[in-house]
Amino acid sequence: MGERSEWRDTSSGSPRTTASTTGFTPKQAKFRAFLDHSQGCPDCDYGNRRCDVAQGIWEAWRAMPQ
Ligand SMILES: [Zn+2]
Repeated sequence: MGERSEWRDTSSGSPRTTASTTGFTPKQAKFRAFLDHSQGCPDCDYGNRRCDVAQGIWEAWRAMPQ
């Protein structure tokens, strides 16, 4: 662990699941963004409580293909 990578929201929505420049697939990057948020957000208790931001990321992650 260690390096953080900013995940950019490309709302244009590519259905493809190509690996990003970070080596993560968009879905992996999304999940990472969720973890990063959870760890840094005072309103999020990882695994239990989620703020609206985390919930939005989570829902987006779930909706993504592999
Ligand atoms: Zn949060």
